[in-house]
Amino acid sequence: MLRYIDVEDMAQILDALFSSGVLIPAIWLSLGLATAWFLLSAKRVVPLTTKEAETLWKVHKQQMQCNADGWREIVRNEKIVGFECECGHKHIQKKHIITINA
Ligand SMILES: [Zn+2]
Repeated sequence: MLRYIDVEDMAQILDALFSSGVLIPAIWLSLGLATAWFLLSAKRVVPLTTKEAETLWKVHKQQMQCNADGWREIVRNEKIVGFECECGHKHIQKKHIITINA
């Protein structure tokens, strides 16, 4: 025979969870995990030096067999974050804060 949990039982279960001190740490743990997940998955733009940007441009030229002979830096907040090739190709260097698969 089935017995359904009624509202009073639910209140008692919740009350027991609160008073046992299990529920609050569980909520904080969930929040902590959500924050950690957000930080791990967030992508940040990595500043480059002119030399690094130039190297990336040369790699692009090789890979795309691009014949352009000029490029310019893409600057954001006074930092070089990538390059734009004369062919129209744009590259912005993005990286995870923490790289798991290094
Ligand atoms: Zn190009």
